[in-house]
Order: sequence, then C-alpha cells, then structure tokens
Amino acid sequence: VNQFSQPVRQIANLANTIQVTIAACERVFEVLDEEEMQETVSNLAPKENSPYKVEFEHVQFGYGDEPEDPLLMTDFNLTVRPGNMIAVVGPTGAGKSTLINLLERFYDVKGGSIRFEGVDTRDIPQPKLRKKFSMVLQDTWLFNGSIWDNIAYGSERYGKDRDHILAAAKAAHVDDFVQRLPEGYNTILNEEGTNISQGQRQLITIARAFLADPEVLILDEATSSVDTRTEILIQKAMNNLLEDRTSFVVAHRLSTIRDADKIIVMNEGDVIETGNHDELMDQNGFYADLYNSQFTSYEENTAFA
Ligand code: ADP
Repeated sequence: VNQFSQPVRQIANLANTIQVTIAACERVFEVLDEEEMQETVSNLAPKENSPYKVEFEHVQFGYGDEPEDPLLMTDFNLTVRPGNMIAVVGPTGAGKSTLINLLERFYDVKGGSIRFEGVDTRDIPQPKLRKKFSMVLQDTWLFNGSIWDNIAYGSERYGKDRDHILAAAKAAHVDDFVQRLPEGYNTILNEEGTNISQGQRQLITIARAFLADPEVLILDEATSSVDTRTEILIQKAMNNLLEDRTSFVVAHRLSTIRDADKIIVMNEGDVIETGNHDELMDQNGFYADLYNSQFTSYEENTAFA
C-alpha cells in the first residue's frame, strides 16, 4: 500500500494543481467576458438601463491618498436627465471643480459610483469617456495656429472638413468678426491670443465645442469683463450650444441659474440644497439667503457666489 501512496499523492496533488489552474483560467475568461460585455454595453448606448444621462450615487471623495485623510464629499447624490442643464453654485472651495473632475474621471471616487447612461464610468474606456464631454472654460486656451486649426482642435472627425468648421464658427458668432480680419480664418493666433480680444477668444472656444458636439457640455461661466456687444454675442452663442444638450454649468450669472433645470448648491464638498430656482426660494435656506443678499435688484449679469 505504502509503495503506491506516494504516486497517488503526487497524482492527487497534480489534479489539485490542474483544478486550481482551470479555475484560474476560468476566472481570466470571466474577466475577459466581463470586459467585452462592458465594452459592448458602452458601445451600444444602453439608454434603456437608466432614465438618466449622469448619476452620482453615494459618492465619497477626498484628494488625500491615505485612509485617514479627510473626505471632501461624504455622500454626494445627483441624477441628471438627458438634455437638462445643471447649474452648480457655491462659495470658493465648495467642491464645484471637484465635481467636474470626478465626472470626467480625472480622479476616481473613493466610494459609491458615477454612471453615464447607466454604465459605471470606470467601465468606460478613458478615451471614449473623454469624448463624451467638452469643456468651455473661463480660461480659454488657444494655440499658435490658424483660426481653422484652433476651432478644429480636438475634433478628429470633422477636423479637416472646412464646411463643418465654418458651420461651428457661424453658430458661435465667430464668423462675424473673422470676416473682418484681413487673413480671415487663416489668421495665425499666438498662444496668448493677444491679437484678438478676450471675448473673441471665448467665442473661438465656443466654436470648438460646437464642432466637438459633445454629449455633455461643461461650462465654467466667465466673469471676466468683456464689452457689452461681445457679451451679448457670447450669451447667444452659449444658448445655442446649450440647447437640448445635457450640461453642467459652474454658474455665476443669475439668468443661467434661473434657467437651470436643477441647481446644485454646494458647500464644503457636499450638496446642501437642490431644486430649481422657485423650489429653492420656497425652501428659504442657504440659496434663498445667498440670492436675497446678492440680488437686491434684478440685475441679470451680476456675479453669483
Ligand atoms: P470650487 O471649485 O468650488 O472652488 P474645488 O473643487 O476647487 O472648489 O475645491 C474643493 C476643496 O478641495 C478645496 O478645499 C480645495 O482646496 C481642495 N482641492 C481642490 N483641488 C485639490 C487638489 N488637486 N489637491 C488637493 N486638494 C484640492
């Protein structure tokens, strides 16, 4: 009996090893399948999964990497329906930029999840996720190149198609002033953009966003002073861009805030109030206080928070 026990044990061990290996292989295939599935899911726009374009569910986040580092967001919840405009307001340091950073997944959540059309953003390949968003920021970024190239920047699909660029330029009221430049769209901008006005720079970045045609627009409302005429053009261009598009606006303008489908009032990382303007006024809380203290007159373009 003894002389067989060693080989039997060896065979048993071997069988065990094989089983473990099989299990490991199965796991690998499971993971591969899962990845393939997620890829398919995000490709096929599973709108039926969720009525929301974007959802934040029990999101926890802090910038520190150590477990003992304090959280900025402890339980952030938000649902955004397709086509809705979300105005984010709150004092400096409230977490407005952090919210945008998380949305685009420049940082990962520490708890909870952020979903895009029902799919966890961690399951959407990074380049695909980034293409869903365009940002129009307060600090406009232009590079050394023609107006054509500056508008086309980041839009690979239509980048070389002049008709599309021109359509975007018209929608953003860029065409109006470019027509008056001696070199037109071939005018070379310098990196600081000093050869055109601040307002014109903003219009060019709006044209860029039109061309990119993002699913979600992120807008940091400028508070910089431009002349009234350009200001009106910027507002018109923005309104065109925002129409029927899901958007997050870090809002400073009373008119934007009042038009928003949902206002997110943030303080110290968390949402303290949500609702539209009328609902928040009825709540008579933080927002109503802010509103009453800052808008004693109905001045449409007064900076907010
Ligand atoms: P807001 O955009 O409303 O002014 P932020 O989201 O920029 O607010 O900031 C929220 C908090 O997070 C602030 O206390 C800020 O100091 C902190 N914070 C922002 N960015 C970083 C970062 N990259 N690293 C560490 N802390 C940060």
